[in-house]
Amino acid sequence: MKDIAKPDIATLVKLQEAETEIVRLQAVLEKVEKEKTKLASRLKQFEKALVQNREDLVRAQSACRDSEHEIQIVDDRIIKSNENLRMVKTNKEYTVLLREVDDNKKRKDALETELLEFMDEREKSQTIATESEREYELLSEQITAQQAEMEKKCSDDKELLEEYLAQQKDIGKRLDSSLMVRFRKISKMNQGSAVTSVSHAVCSGCFMNIPPQLYIEVQRGSSLISCPQCSRILYYVNID
Ligand SMILES: [Zn+2]
Repeated sequence: MKDIAKPDIATLVKLQEAETEIVRLQAVLEKVEKEKTKLASRLKQFEKALVQNREDLVRAQSACRDSEHEIQIVDDRIIKSNENLRMVKTNKEYTVLLREVDDNKKRKDALETELLEFMDEREKSQTIATESEREYELLSEQITAQQAEMEKKCSDDKELLEEYLAQQKDIGKRLDSSLMVRFRKISKMNQGSAVTSVSHAVCSGCFMNIPPQLYIEVQRGSSLISCPQCSRILYYVNID
């Protein structure tokens, strides 16, 4: 391991400070994004229900129209048969037409009963669709407001994150590229913690005791020492 100048440790500590903030802010922002996605999918569910309810209403309306149309056709047939009744010449014709009128009246009765059921269904579907629309509008407003509020709240964090990223990039320019690679690797291993202090021979990253010889080297600060347990780059702080 090559020796590094002492100021590099101070630079690494600054790099770590930025890294800690970056990791924290990224976690906060990720959580906000997740919340926003959750809200959006909740709204989507309501939208699906609304579409279903609207379709049910259209079906019910169409069933009523079809039924009314059919009643109209049967009605026309009854009128026509009644007209024909006045013009019949034989008894046989009269009986046939009379039966026709009778059959059509029965058919009309049955259709009218069915229509009442369809109308009942249509009314229920209308109520459900209206209620569903109202609920959706309300939730949509609520969720949009919540998302905007979240967006507003995390805009400061986003700005701060950009600042730390820029700061880190700036610090990185002053460090050896292999050191940056090492920093990145250790940070990834330890959830954003790559550089940590040592006092009383204890690594404050993993709380392991540092072997005496290594501790002396850390105290001397003339080279970059990694913790044998967690690999974090160590620097010495004197705490009494
Ligand atoms: Zn350690």
